[in-house]
Amino acid sequence: MTIVSTLFIADLHLSPRRPRIGERFAHFLRETVGGARALYILGDLFESWAGDDDLDDPFNAHIARLLGEAAQRLPIFIMHGNRDFLIGARFAHSTGIHLLPDPSVREVEGKPTLLMHGDTLCTDDHDYQEFRAMVRDPRWQAEFLAQPLSRRKAQIEALRARSEKEKAGKPPAIMDVNAAAVTNALREHGVKRLIHGHTHRPGHHTHKVDGRLCERWVLPDWYEAGGYLRCNPEGCELHPLEGD
Ligand code: MN
Repeated sequence: MTIVSTLFIADLHLSPRRPRIGERFAHFLRETVGGARALYILGDLFESWAGDDDLDDPFNAHIARLLGEAAQRLPIFIMHGNRDFLIGARFAHSTGIHLLPDPSVREVEGKPTLLMHGDTLCTDDHDYQEFRAMVRDPRWQAEFLAQPLSRRKAQIEALRARSEKEKAGKPPAIMDVNAAAVTNALREHGVKRLIHGHTHRPGHHTHKVDGRLCERWVLPDWYEAGGYLRCNPEGCELHPLEGD
């Protein structure tokens, strides 16, 4: 007998440059999510997202079609990551998946659970937090989206190259979550379970918050092995992608 469960993924960074990950995602939707109660995508499904008008791109259209098919079988929720925060209403509408704010508290298999992409927990990375505040400003986004698609794509490419260079020079600890930020999030939302991605450091951590034992699950990225988190009323467990 299979127990019904809820699945979580993040940081797939889908891109036409890495078609293999797209294939693994198709396989995951076809073979793994069947029978699940819901699927949550906690940010950075795409390596980049220039705006919903880029849905006409063949690769994006292909992924949207896969999601649309899967969304007929189970509810799918998506949260913005730091790469694909411009995913908007047209994408959600055309795929039938639901956009979820970051952070969100959801009842997951009977337990209130805080869901985040995870970048807001990396408070030691001051440069990034400053950049995030800029690009999450609705005025900045409106101005950006008013530009032609080709120019937006060129700008994203330039930003990506810069961020890769900056990341290489940053001490690894800066790019992990800040312990106080985790504690604050758990305290503020009054939950005992947090699930996030972004850091590409999959794992299970426990935190004592005001005497309460809390747990934090970090989702794996799909650059190398990939994987997902499966939660049922007994608890959660990280799984590698099934063979394809
Ligand atoms: Mn991320």
